[in-house]
Amino acid sequence: MNLILLTRNDVDDAGLARVRDPRRLAHLRQVHRARQGDVMTLGLENGPLGRGQLVSLTDDEACFDVSGLDQAPPAALPVHLVLALPRPRMLARSIEHATALGVKRITLLHSRRVEKSYWQSPELDPAKIHQHLVLGLEQARDTALPVVNTARGFRPFVEDRLPSLLEGRRGLLAHPGMANACPRGLTEPVTLLVGPEGGFIEWEVEQMLAAGCEGIHLGERILRVETAVTALLSRLF
Ligand code: SAH
Repeated sequence: MNLILLTRNDVDDAGLARVRDPRRLAHLRQVHRARQGDVMTLGLENGPLGRGQLVSLTDDEACFDVSGLDQAPPAALPVHLVLALPRPRMLARSIEHATALGVKRITLLHSRRVEKSYWQSPELDPAKIHQHLVLGLEQARDTALPVVNTARGFRPFVEDRLPSLLEGRRGLLAHPGMANACPRGLTEPVTLLVGPEGGFIEWEVEQMLAAGCEGIHLGERILRVETAVTALLSRLF
């Protein structure tokens, strides 16, 4: 936690934020070794960040002064990440990494090689997803919460949603063996599509290329989803 992320609900009218959940309290004690009076980096979810004092710390509550938070969060990446749903642990890590790198829009997509049971995973619970987003934001000292949605059918996604995701955006389909290498240093908006652990099937690749995506590769090494996401984002932007 390089930033203590607070929600509007934590804050009272006097500009004091009270943290009572065990995760943040334990982290404050064990990692930050926080003491009353310490000045720490704080942020308000979807709001400003800055330095603020830990006014009091007891066994079950930490109270921060958030009246002086006045900085904007770091710039977001101009990318909408479309990620074929990976297995739950990989999903958690991929979401955390993408969030830490500045992605603000994520669509979790079904495709042929996504196991149907993954859609039943408790990791897809909005509260669980929120937890991973928060971990990514805290890591990167960001406050702007990404928006995550799902597309549970591949064909309806390609037919109904992909065209609008490509309006005014460059569509990049990451798939091993494509003709072009992943571009670098982009500033334009991108929709980036990443496959499941088994990859996209040929028919899916054809559909996405026909919709206007460009196929890109990262070289001959096949990377895990979480590594591919990280490598693609850092190389693209
Ligand atoms: N076995 C699959 C690879 C799956 S890796 C196959 O051969 O197609 C999971 C996803 O990560 C891929 O669908 C792709 O989107 C991305 N990825 C991993 N390594 C890549 C590479 N070298 N080039 C482009 N994309 C890659």
